[in-house]
Parts: sequence; C-alpha cells; structure tokens
Amino acid sequence: MNIEIQHRKARRLSAIALSEIVQISEKARALKAQGRDILALSTGEPDFPTPPEVIEAAHRAALEGQTGYPPTAGTPTLRARVAAKHGVAPEETLISTGAKQVIANAMLATLDPGDEVIIPAPFWTSYADIVRMAEGVPIVLPCGMAQGFKLGPEALEAALTARTRWVMLNSPSNPSGAVYSAGEFSALGKVLERHPQVWVLSDEIYEHLSYVPFTTFPEAAPALRERTLVVNGVSKAWSMTGWRIGWGVGPAALIRDMTVVQGQVTSGACSISQAAACAALDMGPEILSERLADFLARRDLVVAGLDALPGIACPEPGGAFYAFPDIGACLGNRHGMATDTEFCAWLLDTSGLAVVPGSAFGMPGHFRLSFAYSRAQIADGLSRLETALGALPA
Ligand code: PLP
Repeated sequence: MNIEIQHRKARRLSAIALSEIVQISEKARALKAQGRDILALSTGEPDFPTPPEVIEAAHRAALEGQTGYPPTAGTPTLRARVAAKHGVAPEETLISTGAKQVIANAMLATLDPGDEVIIPAPFWTSYADIVRMAEGVPIVLPCGMAQGFKLGPEALEAALTARTRWVMLNSPSNPSGAVYSAGEFSALGKVLERHPQVWVLSDEIYEHLSYVPFTTFPEAAPALRERTLVVNGVSKAWSMTGWRIGWGVGPAALIRDMTVVQGQVTSGACSISQAAACAALDMGPEILSERLADFLARRDLVVAGLDALPGIACPEPGGAFYAFPDIGACLGNRHGMATDTEFCAWLLDTSGLAVVPGSAFGMPGHFRLSFAYSRAQIADGLSRLETALGALPA
C-alpha cells in the first residue's frame, strides 16, 4: 500500500509568512556564497562585544554548579534585581528567553480568538505575527513620518473597540527610532483610562539607546499601572542578543498566567545567562553612556549621509540604532520600481547592499538601515547607495 504522508500545518500559521528580514538576509547570504561582494546593514544587533565582566560572571556561575533547571519565572537573584530596577515586587517580574518570549507569553496567556491588539506602524516585525499565533487580530494603525511615527490620542481613541485587549507601544522604536515623551505617553494613558478592558504592553528594550530623554510608560501613566506590562532585557544595551534574557514587569496575576505559558514551552530561562544578566545590571552606567555616545556619532553620520542623497528623506531617529528613511521619490514608473520591496531587491542586485523594506514593518515606502555596524561599513553602505541612486533616471 502506498500511503502518501503530507505535512499539514495548523490554521493559525496560515497567515504568518517568513519574515522579510529573514528573506533579505537569506538572499544576501546566497549572493555572498556565489562570490558577490555583499554588505548587509540589515540586522538589529550591536557590534560591541558582551562586556568581559558579564562573561566572567557566566563562567563563575557554570563552575559553581548553577547548571540545573532554574525556577520557571527566573532565579530569585535576577528577579530581585529586575524588581529593584523597576520599583516593583519580585512577584511582578518574569524572566524569559529574550524579550520576544515575554511578548509571546503575554499574548498566549491573555488573547482569545478574535481579540484585537492595536499596533502602531511601523512596528517590530514580530508583534503582528505573535498576535496572530495567539489567534488574536492585529489592528495596525499607520503612524507616518508626518506624525513622527507616533500614535496620537485621537487615532488611538478611534481604533478602540469592545474587543480591544492590548495596545502595543515601543519606545525607542524599532524600526523608526521614535521616542515618546512623557506628555505623549500620558495623553495615550488618559484615553485608555476610559477603556478599562484595554491593557498596555510597553516594549522598552531600547531604553538605554535613547538620544533624547527616555520615559518609561508606567511613570507617565501611573493610573494604568494595574494593566501595564513593561518589556525589557539585556539583549541590546549590553550586547547580549545570544544570551537570550528578557523580562516582563506587570501585575502579579498576569505574571502568574504568563509563567504558566512559559512553564509549558521552555521552562526557566538559561541559568547561566541569568547570572550573566545580573552582572550586566550590576555594572555601572559608564559602559552604557560610552556605547550610546558611539551610536549617536554613527547616527549623525548615517542621517546626514542618507538625507543628502537624491530621492531620500531621512528623519533623525531619537533612539535605537536604525535609520528609517522615506524613499517614496525613488519609486514609481520612471524608476521601474513600484514598491519598497522591489527597491531593496534592486539595491541588493545592483550594489550588493542589503537593507530591509519598510513593508516588513507595516510601513511601505521606506527602508530600514541598521547603524550597529562599523564606521567603515556605514561609509561603504552610503557610497553603494549613492552609486546605485546615481544610475536611476533623473
Ligand atoms: N523588541 C524589539 C522592539 C526588538 O527590536 C527586539 C529585537 O530585535 C526584541 C524586542 C527582541 O529582543 P530579544 O532578543 O531580547 O528577544
């Protein structure tokens, strides 16, 4: 008997495509393997090393035998450290395998099919897909360059429905670099005070990469503390993307439910990485300010370089390490490229430069260029872009 075995994926996966960031990175890798000279400025990963103090702490933890299953919600030491940082009790914290898992835990723990999650665009690519995976409905609200890429209170009010469960905010933002002021956060908070069914997820993973004053959402909207989940972690500020430690800070009942989810998916986050994260949090602020100053200089280089190119308008990002220029003037019939995705594919083909199309972040007509690369690589990227654009019909 000849039985054909077919893989059948779950319905909840049907609307989730391979991320455009992964697609462009894979194409860049394939071209490189063919011997092409490729420069990828597409990844959101700091180019600094993990601080040696952190690596030493991990080494010590391993030698001391911190190698068993850690408690599901995190080691008492790291939870206490995170609780102190955020001014909450340890029961209001959950340590996860990266900030991404915190977000997934929250959505899986709270969404019922059809529940809506408001996501201002441009947004970090995973938000909408995590919501879909949890069988929720992402309600994407475009917040363009004219609004500083930020959600305003009127647009928020207009998007709220009886099914709205969460609003996902991200400041500083990946990919736009937008940073909400205390007043802007507070105005959003005032709207939500009238809608008690709605919770706020405030992704503050780029807290220490802000070139303008940073505000944490609960401080700006204290009336919403009982329904706010702050997401943060060590990945970006201490160059620890591979250590996979992030945390959530929120009401104890939510944290308990998120811990149930995590307990059935991964259990506690890596014990050695948790010891390393404690060491990172215990380091002084000097390392953070040194790295911030370095990124600021690179930001200025990139913004000035991009803004000077024909057809490109680059606003100044207030935080994170991405430029998100408008390339609308490079698109259209005259140039033979209708979309940002075509533009990025053309750029990779003609100049070997890989950047990510804005549509990957829910905002077509832009691309994202990461400046978490060396000055030489940034200069090389700008010059490739200049050459490519120079070849376009005027
Ligand atoms: N949130 C934002 C806005 C990000 O840009 C990223 C990573 O790119 C994450 C969360 C995920 O962080 P982690 O690597 O700690 O999972």
